[in-house]
Amino acid sequence: MKKIFPCVEINLKKIIHNTRVINEICKSKNIHVVGVSKVYCAKLPIVEAMLNGGIEIIGDSRMENLKKLEQLKCRKMLLRIPMESHASEVVKYADISLNSEINTIKALSRAAKRVNKIHNVILMIDLGDLREGVLESETLENVKEIIKLPNIRLCGIGTNLTCYGGVIPDSENLGRLVKIREAIEINNNLSLPIVSGGNSSSLYLVLNGTIPNGINQLRIGEAIVLGRETAYGNKIPDCYSDSFILKGEIVEIKDKPSVPKGKIGMDAFGKVPNFIDKGIIKRAIVAIGRQDIDPDGLKPVDNCIEILGGSSDHLILDVSRCNILYKVGDVIDFTMDYGCLLRTMTSPYVKKYYLS
Ligand SMILES: *Cc1c(COP(=O)(O)O)cnc(C)c1O
Repeated sequence: MKKIFPCVEINLKKIIHNTRVINEICKSKNIHVVGVSKVYCAKLPIVEAMLNGGIEIIGDSRMENLKKLEQLKCRKMLLRIPMESHASEVVKYADISLNSEINTIKALSRAAKRVNKIHNVILMIDLGDLREGVLESETLENVKEIIKLPNIRLCGIGTNLTCYGGVIPDSENLGRLVKIREAIEINNNLSLPIVSGGNSSSLYLVLNGTIPNGINQLRIGEAIVLGRETAYGNKIPDCYSDSFILKGEIVEIKDKPSVPKGKIGMDAFGKVPNFIDKGIIKRAIVAIGRQDIDPDGLKPVDNCIEILGGSSDHLILDVSRCNILYKVGDVIDFTMDYGCLLRTMTSPYVKKYYLS
């Protein structure tokens, strides 16, 4: 089959493997893993790989993505705090949603009542990262209101860390979450089955055995797709970090100076660039750009290649130190960080191929 470039090759076996490994580690600590699909736009073959690896709930931040999964039998969780205006769709396409606004939960209640469904709500608590969640001090009053609402089941509490504020989950802050659950249960004489203790940044606590007892769910995306935890960026043992390989084609290769000639103004993105003079170098242009990638988030598989920069549609490489004599038409492979992968999977200009 003739490939179209740029493209990303997705190794489904590696995704299944990573999912199994992470799922098993968590299971041994009584933690249920929600497989998060937003970074790859919930593309069906990859969602199926996660299900194959033992995932039972798929989480995504976007309604459009959950809609795509309507036919799948697994349960679905909406990760982003729902828009009030989406209440009917949330109830239709998600079994569970993460929430922090009482008025939105009321809208979900009305929407669920209209279609005679019970919608599951996890109340998000802000433990200090300052993205979503009610303040700890306001949790109990919120709970009192939520449990009065018809067609809503408060099934747990959760938190999200290391997303905005960079706050690292630890046994202290996650321990507080477990305590809050106890307080809610005692105060209202109810049982709250789920304590959702964060994303891939909480995984290191599972790996080093310090995750507080009582945390029984994690919502994991990056660790499965890129094989690393995200509190410190460490590789997870026995996981692949190259399940996604980006491939771009060289369209120009020439010996040129390393410093531009002329008065230097702003580049295409309004920044004044800086250059190091390395004399004449061999420069390759790959037909891919910021519309599809983040040049800072790419790593060439051939580690003799250096990325010099990129504009909307061009990626510029220094291939002077390579043993391989690259020529026009050759294809360069890259691994990606999270931000770059997100952009690549979202770009309609990058073709997706699945290896199974
Ligand atoms: C994206 C997201 C996750 C998953 O984050 P990863 O770092 O990819 O594991 C979990 N929870 C929420 C609320 C999210 O938005």
